[in-house]
Amino acid sequence: MLVPAKEMLQKAKAGHYAVGQFNINNLEWTKCILTAAEETKSPVILGVSEGAGKYMAGYKTVVGMVNGMLEEMGITVPVALHLDHGSYEGCMKCIEAGFSSIMFDGSHYPIEENVAKTKELVAICKEKGLSLEAEVGAIGGEEDGVVGMGECADPQECKMVADLGVDFLAAGIGNIHGKYPANWQGLSFETLDEIQKLTGELPLVLHGGTGIPDDMIKKAIDLGVSKINVNTECQLVFAEATRKYIEAGKDQEGKGYDPRKLLKPGSEAIIAKVKEKMELFGSVGQA
Ligand SMILES: [Zn+2]
Repeated sequence: MLVPAKEMLQKAKAGHYAVGQFNINNLEWTKCILTAAEETKSPVILGVSEGAGKYMAGYKTVVGMVNGMLEEMGITVPVALHLDHGSYEGCMKCIEAGFSSIMFDGSHYPIEENVAKTKELVAICKEKGLSLEAEVGAIGGEEDGVVGMGECADPQECKMVADLGVDFLAAGIGNIHGKYPANWQGLSFETLDEIQKLTGELPLVLHGGTGIPDDMIKKAIDLGVSKINVNTECQLVFAEATRKYIEAGKDQEGKGYDPRKLLKPGSEAIIAKVKEKMELFGSVGQA
């Protein structure tokens, strides 16, 4: 059964580890991430972007697929199904479809409007039993022309949004989505520390987990980060393993073209990558 992410993240914060959010794109991705979580006894958050939701034919399809897998794979670890960077409309659709957690990304609104919309969603999520993530300080990516340094959130604004009753908070601390540029200046631990001091027990979220050095990840967890989002890294290892299979001509040997064979190396690569991240985040054995 799907659970909200609130309790697993509060436990993570108290236990000084982080739970990974791994984004899903299709059936293989979902099955691989659930396999890794179950085998390592790790709580897990399945992230779904609005684009991925559309790709998978819609949020109801996603909910049906995930619930089916939880039952038929015999998953026992806590699993949250979470909308990643949701618009207000997207949040409403996911609440309706049966997600257990949502992120409202109001970071592109003026802070007053972000606050007003977040308040509304806090009330709805409390009533329906979902967990809610909010974002302060836009977290961009290379596609947004971010070079050198991502945005840093204003700690006072973080406090203001935290006080609205959200369950966990994503704040920009120099992190970005996708691959990090060569001249990236690293995470701003000063900003993270200031935010953490003002927001107290509230679990903090680190987006753009791909390519942040392991020591920075560990330091961020020490400073109150309890959820780390990983997306691009799984895509990269899947593509690499699939490319090798094709380049070696294996799809032309016997029934190597069978999608269950063709997608196997990529799937195994995702499982290995997810387990490696769970180990790094310290969530192994915490379920
Ligand atoms: Zn993000």
